[in-house]
Amino acid sequence: MERALRRHLAELQQKLGVLTEPPERGSGLGFGKRVGDGTAEAVSRLTDVGVADRLQVSMERIERALDKLEQGTYGTCDACAGPIPQARLRAAPESSVCIDCARAARRA
Ligand SMILES: [Zn+2]
Repeated sequence: MERALRRHLAELQQKLGVLTEPPERGSGLGFGKRVGDGTAEAVSRLTDVGVADRLQVSMERIERALDKLEQGTYGTCDACAGPIPQARLRAAPESSVCIDCARAARRA
């Protein structure tokens, strides 16, 4: 389970890396700024910035799931502390909240 999560995370990082690659390296964009600033600007310049945003959210979810694995709370809802059904974990291994709490969060 943990290996699958890490593989998924690595794939997402790769996709995000491709998307946020500065299109014109050395053209003066981000000149004089730290690398992190330049990366954020590269993301904001993307026309399909929504894709990068979604990948970013997915990565954060997976990182959270990996944290939970390490803490031994994997499979337990972050919001209500109830169990996350196995079927949900199989379908979405990065889940850190149960279905009810995920729905509630989407409505909020
Ligand atoms: Zn819950």
